[in-house]
Amino acid sequence: MIIVLRPDATPEDIEKITERLKKLGLSVHISKGEERTIIGAIGDESVLQDQPLDIIPGVESVMPILKPYKLVSKEFRQESTVIEFGDVKFGGNKVQVIAGPCSVEAKDGLLNVAEKVKESGVKFLRGGAFKPRTSPYSFQGLGVKGLEYLSEVKNETGLLIVTELMDPRDTDVVYKHADIIQIGARNMQNFRLLTEIGKLDKPVLLKRGLSATIKELLMSAEYIASQGNSNIILCERGIRTFETSTRNTIDIGAIPVLKRETHLPVIVDPSHAAGTWKYVSAISKAAIAAGADGLMIEVHHDPESALCDGSQSLKPQKFSDLMKELIKIAAAIGREL
Ligand code: PEP
Ligand code: MN
Repeated sequence: MIIVLRPDATPEDIEKITERLKKLGLSVHISKGEERTIIGAIGDESVLQDQPLDIIPGVESVMPILKPYKLVSKEFRQESTVIEFGDVKFGGNKVQVIAGPCSVEAKDGLLNVAEKVKESGVKFLRGGAFKPRTSPYSFQGLGVKGLEYLSEVKNETGLLIVTELMDPRDTDVVYKHADIIQIGARNMQNFRLLTEIGKLDKPVLLKRGLSATIKELLMSAEYIASQGNSNIILCERGIRTFETSTRNTIDIGAIPVLKRETHLPVIVDPSHAAGTWKYVSAISKAAIAAGADGLMIEVHHDPESALCDGSQSLKPQKFSDLMKELIKIAAAIGREL
């Protein structure tokens, strides 16, 4: 249920309504917009049947949220979510690019890439320390050592860190080193993991599962939001189809659909969609033109020697050229990159 408050509703009014809803066994989520506050009452709505909530002081209207995803829906919050990292904002008019290697391999290579992508205007460095690999014999990531390298590079460059959490047992250590915690495609429906990170006060990058529908992606985001953490960035990274020319099939249509359904920022990962660096540029440009709020691109200083996903990684020079083109595309649709 959404309870829309009057613009002149007082903090006492909000407190009273909140208490009443909690007594009825509902969980209460407050969204403070620029114009007015909305209270989301989530749970068994049948308890509200005989409750004339609309006559309580401060209440303007009461309506059901019809979508199965509630807190992440546009019905609950019309304004776009903007996640703030000091002066750096994710969401809103600004388009953000996250760049870096697939996995953290060594400190010097990571620093090299970090400095170069920073020169291209990037604020967020990606790098996996815990890697979800298809084969148990492939490089699995450096683990905690990789996280430490990320923090060292953050200290030296000022870049914010995006890194994946695969296992709830690593939550504390990933929390310590990450500015955004990534949940990979393979874990999109690991509901215990989603519940765990929903309790944290750290933004989450949630990637669409390999064969997940848009609705399933939004329901997974709802798992996180239901625990109190609504700072979620959604990521389209290509889905499984019959087509094998690219590693996955980019679902460009998911961008406008998600932008219509949710207030959360939506980004695209062209690297895992393409599977080869050759198509990364075209997919990136299409994503920004279609309204994505950002991109996550794999960049490696020496892709031929990369321990993971070298073939889809851009060299820093190619990435820099792409950024220049993306700035123009963003400007053409009235956005800033
Ligand atoms: C990644 O971004 O490092 C990754 C493993 O991607 P995905 O989970 O989308 O496969
Ligand atoms: Mn990768």
